Amino acid sequence: MKQKLISVVIPAFNEQDNLPVLVSELTSVLKKIGLYEILIVNDGSTDKTESVIEELHRSDKCVHLISFTRNFGHQYALKAGLDRACGDCVISMDADLQHPVSLIPTMIREWQDGNDIVYTVRRETNNESWFKKMSSRLFYRFFNFLTDLRLPRGAADFRLLDRKVVDQIKSLPERMLFLRGMISWIGFTQKGIAYTPARRLNGSSSYTLRKMVALAATGAVSFSLKPLRVAIYLGLFVAFMGCLFTAYVLYMRLFNGSVISGWASLMSVTLILGGAQLFMMGIIGEYIGMIFMETKHRPQYIISKTTLTSKDNHEK
Ligand code: UDP
Ligand code: MG
Repeated sequence: MKQKLISVVIPAFNEQDNLPVLVSELTSVLKKIGLYEILIVNDGSTDKTESVIEELHRSDKCVHLISFTRNFGHQYALKAGLDRACGDCVISMDADLQHPVSLIPTMIREWQDGNDIVYTVRRETNNESWFKKMSSRLFYRFFNFLTDLRLPRGAADFRLLDRKVVDQIKSLPERMLFLRGMISWIGFTQKGIAYTPARRLNGSSSYTLRKMVALAATGAVSFSLKPLRVAIYLGLFVAFMGCLFTAYVLYMRLFNGSVISGWASLMSVTLILGGAQLFMMGIIGEYIGMIFMETKHRPQYIISKTTLTSKDNHEK
């Protein structure tokens, strides 16, 4: 039987100190399993990440560099790796050693047992800040409430995908990416395994609050129309309250002979309604923005340099 090729995709943004450690851990595990390739996607790092990867490539030709022209973001770095990987299965993992290499043999065993997607769910630890934990919990609640998908809480971008799943993902035409949602949406036989994340080896998390909010918004907007429905409910509710209030005003005028006056109540109603309208316009704007971004058909990322040759893509 032909030996299976295992691809590992690692997005890296300023990870010069972590990559050599990770690659040496990975190769010692992968060598025991069989053929492998490691694709490291340099997502516009400002440190020596690129030259570190080139150095790793020189000492092991199975390690490859894909360099972006600028920072396109974690999701796009993952996608670039998936696009270029030619393994029978593709494992994606972070460069900071938070995703334990020791889990890989288990993931591969699950894959060989017939699971097309082996995803991992991180156990909560005290390594993470209170803020990170809360924001992550809130995100999964929010996402699962909005969509019909069920993302397991703590689903990470550490997973194994079978070749046929990778091909499906590559064929999805959308530009704006929320891979976790896509994986959940795509189906196939999936299996989750839990792991305890380690501390980041070097450097600090580059997922700032701004990036997390942007990812959550992309996820919500690309997988749900529920936010738009809020406008309908809100509108109906306000109209209903308005009717009640009009009835009350008329009643007071006709049967009580009094005219209701009130600058303060008028102001608060105007401000609340104005705010609600702007809020809903913002939500509609998010969707229009998404349509706009999708219709431009821009590439998801631009590669400036790679050690992959067209030969690598036919090596299988
Ligand atoms: N990363 C990336 N581009 C970015 C931000 C992060 O490729 O703009 C990579 C980073 O090098 C790491 C992974 O994505 O391998 C996860 O990032 P990080 O550890 O900062 O996030 P966290 O683990 O805190 O969610
Ligand atoms: Mg990390």
